[in-house]
Amino acid sequence: MKMYAVVVNQDVEGDVEVVERDVRPLEYGEALVEVEYCGVCHTDLHVAAGDYGQKPGRVLGHEGIGKVTQIADGVKSLKVGDRVSIAWLFESCGSCEYCNSGRETLCRSVLNAGYTADGGMATHCIVTADYAVKVPDGLDPAQASSITCAGVTTYKGVKVSGVRPGQWIAVYGAGGLGNLGVQYAKKVFGAHVIAIDINEDKLAFAKEVGADIVINSAKEDAAKVIQEKTGGAHAAIVTAVSKDAFNSAVNCVRAGGRVVAIGLPPESMDLSIPRLVLDGIEVVGSLVGTRQDLAEAFQFGAEGLVVPLVQLRALDEAPAIFQEMREGKITGRMVIDMKKGCTCGQAH
Ligand SMILES: [Zn+2]
Ligand SMILES: [Zn+2]
Repeated sequence: MKMYAVVVNQDVEGDVEVVERDVRPLEYGEALVEVEYCGVCHTDLHVAAGDYGQKPGRVLGHEGIGKVTQIADGVKSLKVGDRVSIAWLFESCGSCEYCNSGRETLCRSVLNAGYTADGGMATHCIVTADYAVKVPDGLDPAQASSITCAGVTTYKGVKVSGVRPGQWIAVYGAGGLGNLGVQYAKKVFGAHVIAIDINEDKLAFAKEVGADIVINSAKEDAAKVIQEKTGGAHAAIVTAVSKDAFNSAVNCVRAGGRVVAIGLPPESMDLSIPRLVLDGIEVVGSLVGTRQDLAEAFQFGAEGLVVPLVQLRALDEAPAIFQEMREGKITGRMVIDMKKGCTCGQAH
């Protein structure tokens, strides 16, 4: 059987190409997924550019959603016809201290889809069946693709923040991640939400999906405004890829507040030791989510509490999408529809 896949170019300088490949036979514990949708994430741009190491020919994509069409021996968790995810957490060892304590994303021998394992940006993908999370009925599969990465990452971030109903949470960055963070914080956790960004359109959209207060940090000192209006947030999550946002987050929380780092700027942040000690501030990192987190994040999507905004594109547009994203021309979430516009002329 043949498949079409978006792979990292041989020169690993950021471009991708659509290639035809054979689908290999399944091995024990694996399932074959016919991919319906796969989102394009900034992480894919980093992999294509070799920022995390050289991966020429790697099939990209960790926001895949599709249907199981074949299962190998040893598969108990899935059956043919199930709709499942192909997420960043492609596989972990299953037996280390992290895997055994509900922190499988920290496993030291983890495999990541579209990076250390061939991912979901293809018409077909072979998955380790136990790590493919089922998508509940009632959740649109294109929207599910966004929850597979951006959704679960922010859902987990809000969870880690410990915010409780009625408390204030600041969400730094109101883009693809932050917007979903606003929705989870407001609609699932029952928190009051402050969205901070430097882009007015993103702030307007944050307001539309439930932010109580929006702050343009290019015009105002966000931490100061938050302290004045709320007495300090109880928690903050930072999705912005900017050191300034991290520093502001530490200053925006009240005593005992917790700051959760999600965005990944390649810099260090400033941490005032007296601020941490005297005000009991906590700063923690949060990385994607476990399979259980993803199942929960999907369920809230299926219940209509969280609605990702996606734009569908064709498979052969992948090289153009990567270029547009590199040039910063895209604000919404680009999702490749595998059924759309494959130029081979065959049905997959
Ligand atoms: Zn992603
Ligand atoms: Zn492990």
